[in-house]
Amino acid sequence: MTDLEDLPIRDDLRGRAPYGAPQKAVPVALNVNENTHPIPESVAHDIVARVAAAILHLNRYPDREFTELRRAFAAYLGHGLDERGIWAANGSNEVLQHVLQAFGGPGRTALGFAPTYSMYGLLSAGTGTEWIGAPRDDDFELSPETAVAAVLEHDPDLVILCAPNNPTGTPLSIETITAVADAARGIVVVDEAYHEFADPGTPSALTLLEGRPRLVVSRTMSKAFAFAGARVGYLAADPAVVDALRLVRLPYHLSALTQAAALGALAHSDEMLAMVDEIRGQRERIVDELARLGFRPYRSGANFVLFGGVDDPHAVFEALLERGILIRDIGLPGCLRVTAGTETETTAFLEAIAAFAPAPAAPSHAE
Ligand SMILES: *Cc1c(COP(=O)(O)O)cnc(C)c1O
Repeated sequence: MTDLEDLPIRDDLRGRAPYGAPQKAVPVALNVNENTHPIPESVAHDIVARVAAAILHLNRYPDREFTELRRAFAAYLGHGLDERGIWAANGSNEVLQHVLQAFGGPGRTALGFAPTYSMYGLLSAGTGTEWIGAPRDDDFELSPETAVAAVLEHDPDLVILCAPNNPTGTPLSIETITAVADAARGIVVVDEAYHEFADPGTPSALTLLEGRPRLVVSRTMSKAFAFAGARVGYLAADPAVVDALRLVRLPYHLSALTQAAALGALAHSDEMLAMVDEIRGQRERIVDELARLGFRPYRSGANFVLFGGVDDPHAVFEALLERGILIRDIGLPGCLRVTAGTETETTAFLEAIAAFAPAPAAPSHAE
């Protein structure tokens, strides 16, 4: 049998492992931060009608500029944006890949703050960009001082800030984002994949775009929009950045079906986002209950919670899986990560995890 190592693969890809969050059919899947609420049926019907109409024209290539979709994203984001400053691709992973293809590459570096989204390192590797994982402060926080010091030390071509950060959930202050944007020489990407789950009033990095042509804010429809299976991500930036991304995208990279489906979802953004408050509530419930059980939940501005105080994360992961509950062992010592699900799913998780509580649970009527 041929082994990967027997092939004339690029030297810089030898020995690397692909992205590999387990995909298992389980009753309670809380491992990849999806929105576990299905799309409202009325919205689904409208999306189907739009996709059906698009099918009649599949003999032709789709609009290479996906102008109508970019206009819809600009309207959704607000902040005075128009379609010239919007880009989209098949998931924000592809959006980030375009950014790295255009602004990274051999001899160039991308800086992030570890632990952070594992795809940044993989996308860097795939584009021949050197990935640098600089450390965070205690409890995975990132102060302006720590972030700027790393930027000045490494002088990277790109900085990727994850706000809030995956896998830790840590919100990132607008002060840190501003300080990095003003200190960095290169492109600064703020990945706001989970922004809709932030506490109301949390400012977006979109507020900083004006006058900062090297700042890029990426978003996705995979999380709050409950559209992970459709593969749609997007970004907002100076129109000149969008011109750069046109140089590296494949022609017609967004299929007519994807464009139609995304336009349908955006036309119903209120309904699509209706469950966000409920999910935020379940996140807070997880934080409160895990703390009561004696675990150590970290601050989260996303739809998931990282918690410490787990004696044997792998054993707990397996024990929950045996009960049909899939969470994430992200390899951080003593920690596990769980997505906020529906109320029923969250209850199933909390009941199962209670058996592994580090401290005897205080009676909830104690106060
Ligand atoms: C889930 C996630 C994304 C979204 O990826 P898509 O390709 O849009 O599905 C992007 N960034 C982070 C940090 C994520 O956790």
